[in-house]
Amino acid sequence: MSNPLYREILQDIRALVESAAHPRRRTIRLSPEVAAKLEALPSAGTAAAGAGTYSGPAETQVMSTPAPDPGATSDSGARGPALDALEKTVAMCTKCELHETRTQTVFADGDPTARIVFVGEAPGAEEDRQGVPFVGRAGQLLTDIITKGMGLRREEVYICNVIKCRPPNNRDPKPAEIEQCEPYLVEQLRLIQPEVICALGAHAARTLLRTTVAVGKLRGQWHEYCGIPLRVTYHPSYLLRNPADKRKTWEDIQLIMEYLGIPIPHGKGS
Ligand code: SF4
Repeated sequence: MSNPLYREILQDIRALVESAAHPRRRTIRLSPEVAAKLEALPSAGTAAAGAGTYSGPAETQVMSTPAPDPGATSDSGARGPALDALEKTVAMCTKCELHETRTQTVFADGDPTARIVFVGEAPGAEEDRQGVPFVGRAGQLLTDIITKGMGLRREEVYICNVIKCRPPNNRDPKPAEIEQCEPYLVEQLRLIQPEVICALGAHAARTLLRTTVAVGKLRGQWHEYCGIPLRVTYHPSYLLRNPADKRKTWEDIQLIMEYLGIPIPHGKGS
């Protein structure tokens, strides 16, 4: 392999793999420049065979490996305790006024090694009572999406909110409250390192993507949060009020399933 172009490409690939290495991650993100170099290789099929084939979202240039996950072993054992410690910190948090009216904090539900994280807005009355996110009517709809739509168990995904304490009367979280609480979400996502994030509704999307663009405009395309592919869809509470848009959310979920290699149940494709 004396060709300087090959050497350059191999160095790029090595740097890429080292920077993206993670035991749970089945994808590696490519810059357009590196992707173009790989595409230009006469033996691209051979070169890519060990790493996988292009099957991710074109606009984000994702190389997806079809091989099974090698197993979440190396650091997944530490992830649970780290999240437990964070949950204890959150339970004592008094950073914003919402601590005065909460029954308890609502940290998260699900698997710390999940491949997908659903991020919602804030706990409602039932969540505040039980200390678990998405357990009311909207929660049942999200559970149906996960179980009946995706064919997963709720315990296989990770579910959390931008805000960990219930805003009184289910009002919208204030920007200052989001600002105070967001570091907990950032740390959750940093620890979990999911393969995909699904932002449910405007507050999750706007917080994670730093945008004020409406959900209707954000959905239908891939975004990125700290190198993690992210899709935006409607919040289940919105879908309860606007059931006609359930179809659009199902389309969004199917694209996530496709990306994760989860088969779409027969007869449920769009
Ligand atoms: S909403 Fe977040 S920042 Fe505010 S008190 Fe609760 S945990 Fe702390």
